[in-house]
Amino acid sequence: MNIILLGPPGAGKGTQAAKLVADRGMVQLSTGDMLRAAVKAGTPTGLKAKAIMDAGELVPDEVVSGIIGERLDQMSPGEGAIFDGYPRTAAQAEALDQLLADRGRKLDRVIELTVDEDALVERITGRYTCAKCGEGYHDKFKQPKAAGVCDVCGSTEFKRRPDDNEETVRTRMAEYRGKTAPIIPIYEARGILTRVDGMADIDQVSAAVAAALDGE
Ligand code: ADP
Ligand code: ADP
Ligand code: ZN
Repeated sequence: MNIILLGPPGAGKGTQAAKLVADRGMVQLSTGDMLRAAVKAGTPTGLKAKAIMDAGELVPDEVVSGIIGERLDQMSPGEGAIFDGYPRTAAQAEALDQLLADRGRKLDRVIELTVDEDALVERITGRYTCAKCGEGYHDKFKQPKAAGVCDVCGSTEFKRRPDDNEETVRTRMAEYRGKTAPIIPIYEARGILTRVDGMADIDQVSAAVAAALDGE
């Protein structure tokens, strides 16, 4: 099964993708994570992407579709993909259809996580991750069980993204409204869209996502 998790910054895409990876052995393809890795490694793609990401704007379509294609090629046929943060434009949505078709795959379901914009700033400014294993946390909504210690790997080092500040979030939300939200009707028309209330508690959202996938 190949699915897209769609929603504005902070909607909970990464959180739900991690749950699907753990529960179902699916593979998370997060363009945000791939781009951050490229920035960290100082690759040519990373060097180009850094300023764009810091400003909260979108990296060119060819760049992200190119890295998605490379990652799909590394997957075994039996593994399902979770597209997290991709596609974000109509051109990317078209590219994804082609990338999947070229590999004998198809898109089974698109889950839109719906959230109030007002809540997103709080979600994003409180977001942090384990510096060692990448597990996601939140200052208020998802604290480690033991303060300052990662539940998953025991590390005591955490990090925050440079673009997770209020000003950049506003730009990212505007990019979402202007360029990403318009692709939702494409999937709705195909009959593969499920809307899930992203304002519910994390576990409730996971249950609704699971129900949407098992309804297939
Ligand atoms: P996205 O990948 O869509 O940008 P994340 O999954 O990183 O969003 O979630 C953003 C922040 O909000 C994280 O700190 C996460 O722990 C928290 N979060 C995710 N889902 C929920 C939820 N349903 N309720 C409250 N906080 C949430
Ligand atoms: P969030 O889920 O919080 O919106 P991401 O980690 O998905 O953040 O993306 C972080 C940044 O990486 C985006 O603001 C954008 O600059 C870039 N980016 C990630 N995915 C894409 C994409 N599919 N197309 C263009 N830019 C992207
Ligand atoms: Zn950890």
